[in-house]
Amino acid sequence: MPLLALSAHRAWVALSDIPINGATALLVVLPLALRPLRWRLVLLAVAVGILIDVDHAVAARSIRLEAMLSLPVRPATHSLLFAALASLVGWAVSRRAVVAWIILAALVSHLLRDASGYGTPLLWPLEASTRIPAALYPAGVAALFGLSWLIRARGAAPRRLPDAEP
Ligand SMILES: [Zn+2]
Repeated sequence: MPLLALSAHRAWVALSDIPINGATALLVVLPLALRPLRWRLVLLAVAVGILIDVDHAVAARSIRLEAMLSLPVRPATHSLLFAALASLVGWAVSRRAVVAWIILAALVSHLLRDASGYGTPLLWPLEASTRIPAALYPAGVAALFGLSWLIRARGAAPRRLPDAEP
């Protein structure tokens, strides 16, 4: 394959990550963002799912796609530890558990996709790069969606009135 075609293919694959990661992040929090439509939560999920990849530019010290794609391993910010910390920061700033969950779910959906493809420092600092079976990506997305649905169902359930004293 000619070098130019290979680069174009790699660029296409890398750029296609942006809408796929955004859509996956939205999917996993959909039960919390619909009925009524909560635009802020939608935008938060999509932004978090996409913007984590800014760490590639920071690590590569370049916004050139080739420089970002030539990193030997993804930055440590592509880890479950970072996802948990970012979620805590979201909670500390907003004081809303739903915001913390949306950040966590969006980031974990992104990490699952990366880890099922090329490998990512999912378990950093324990492992520099972890690759998971491809089937764990859709399974993880389904699990995150289910958890969002449970959170929604629990929050939307009518509060039981306290029993009347006899
Ligand atoms: Zn990524």
